[in-house]
Amino acid sequence: MNVHAYAETHEVTNQVPPLDGANLYRIDLPLQEWLRRYDGGWAEQRLDAYGALAGGPLMAAGFLANENKPVFKSHDRYGNRIDLVEFHPAYHELMRSAIEHGIPSMPWTDPRAGAQVARAGLSYLHSQAEAGTGCPLTMTFASVPALKLQADVAAKWLPKILATTYDPRNLPMEQKAGVTIGMAMTEKQGGTDVRANTTRAYPVGIPGPGQAYELVGHKWFCSAPMCDAFLTLAYTDKGLSCFLLPRHRPDGTRNQFYVQRLKNKLGNWSNASSEVEYRGALAWMIGEEGRGVPTIIEMVALTRFDCMIGSSALMRQALTQAAHHCAYRQVGGRVLAEQPLMQNVLADLALESEAALALTLRMGRALDQAHNEQEDKFARLVTAVGKYWICKRAPAMINEAAECLGGAGYVEDTILPRLYREAPVNSTWEGSGNVQCLDVLRALSKEPGVLDALFAELGDGHGDARLAAFIGNLKAAFADTADIQFRARQLTEDVAVALQAKLLLEAGNATVADAFIGSRLGGGGRVYGTLPRGTDVEALVARSTPHLAR
Ligand SMILES: Cc1cc2nc3c(=O)[nH]c(=O)nc-3n(C[C@H](O)[C@H](O)[C@H](O)COP(=O)(O)OP(=O)(O)OC[C@H]3O[C@@H](n4cnc5c(N)ncnc54)[C@H](O)[C@@H]3O)c2cc1C
Repeated sequence: MNVHAYAETHEVTNQVPPLDGANLYRIDLPLQEWLRRYDGGWAEQRLDAYGALAGGPLMAAGFLANENKPVFKSHDRYGNRIDLVEFHPAYHELMRSAIEHGIPSMPWTDPRAGAQVARAGLSYLHSQAEAGTGCPLTMTFASVPALKLQADVAAKWLPKILATTYDPRNLPMEQKAGVTIGMAMTEKQGGTDVRANTTRAYPVGIPGPGQAYELVGHKWFCSAPMCDAFLTLAYTDKGLSCFLLPRHRPDGTRNQFYVQRLKNKLGNWSNASSEVEYRGALAWMIGEEGRGVPTIIEMVALTRFDCMIGSSALMRQALTQAAHHCAYRQVGGRVLAEQPLMQNVLADLALESEAALALTLRMGRALDQAHNEQEDKFARLVTAVGKYWICKRAPAMINEAAECLGGAGYVEDTILPRLYREAPVNSTWEGSGNVQCLDVLRALSKEPGVLDALFAELGDGHGDARLAAFIGNLKAAFADTADIQFRARQLTEDVAVALQAKLLLEAGNATVADAFIGSRLGGGGRVYGTLPRGTDVEALVARSTPHLAR
């Protein structure tokens, strides 16, 4: 008798095959289609190569970088202050890969048609493998337009910001091959209300743009504090101004930039977020004195766009996992993806994911065509609309996707808990939900032509009576200015879904557009999985199921 036979309690069955190593670009039909639609088709080979990396080694690195959180070292063993944050090698691998593939630099170094869209596609793939590195990557990318407002500082820093070399050494920028940039605005007494900042800037010599100042004050949130320099805000006698504050002074000594501690965060674990103090830290003024907010907004507009990319990416990865799981997992002898109620859930998640991607890449197209007045006004509005709506939709959508995996979706062996933890941060930072909705109202009231640009984009409903009626109601809702702040969330949500409906209709996939309009513009249910009867759920699910999409 074989005694070992008794040690085997069971055979493992009905578990799904691993998705490890899948090329995240090849399995993503919506991404391929929307990339081509908005002039990014020339970058397909790059996205294909990055899709293989993101689904393979970077995905594995993502787990490691989150299991091994960054550690703050205030002093060395001799008691000298060092203010270092140590990261796991997997974090550096993720950063290196993104920088070498141009995620923070591509549209600036190769600004051809579709460059923003192609870069958004790369970032979308990267963020599916690991989202925490997105923070320093987006800040580095987004710092460029703000820095360009100060030509002398830009001439020194931009070549290293745009270099496709990752150099994590804690050295003066002159000694490094590439640098990363952070942003520090939020103080204890006010994040939204940056005018409440108390940090002061004192000129070292003559005052004014491009000149050196010393800053005294604190920042309550300063993410990625190992960046080489930070765009930051401080008051001079002429008002709140923007500065570039490096970690090292030009003479090679450490700047008076002190990390107090790291934040213990809900998610976003691979990324360090800190509290810092400036005790006479050297910095150069960027842009006009007293115009710090408009200057740094040049950066914030792009980090908000990246929040759209980031949340769309989290949703896509959650959908991929859910669709893959349900394609194999059987309950009652039948795979879940063939069971009507699960089909309703998966199809609804797929719609949400594709609509988020469509709006995000449409926004990328607007950035690519910023020289066109209509596109520029569209981008002004849709930055706030898209940041609000896509980031708000992500947590609930990811929660539903995790539930498709049953108990496994709640366990850290899968990526779902990490995606879920990560999602709310995109809604909070770079201006929280209400702030985006108020920004929509600001854009409409302060910037002539923005409302016209919106309705020009929406058109007349593109032959769909439901969308036409919805647009008509939206026009009436904007014409009525009573209680408009109170209604700002509803208005912003309606603009978002109307735009998404229009983009999907225009793209020509009738199944996707019809299901979206039927569920989002009508009296649909309040949770996912409530699509109207008659929706072609099989087609929607197949479009997002990895082994069917390949
Ligand atoms: C993980 C993480 C990392 C971060 N990293 C950075 C960083 O690197 N650099 C940086 O500068 N900041 C950073 N932040 C800070 C972030 O940008 C702020 O927390 C955010 O802007 C909100 O500011 P606050 O926390 O002061 O909240 P408050 O400004 O006090 O806002 C609280 C709430 O009030 C709402 N609200 C504000 N004004 C109104 C109004 N008029 N009407 C109705 N509602 C309103 C807001 O939407 C929000 O929900 C980070 C935050 C997090 C969570």
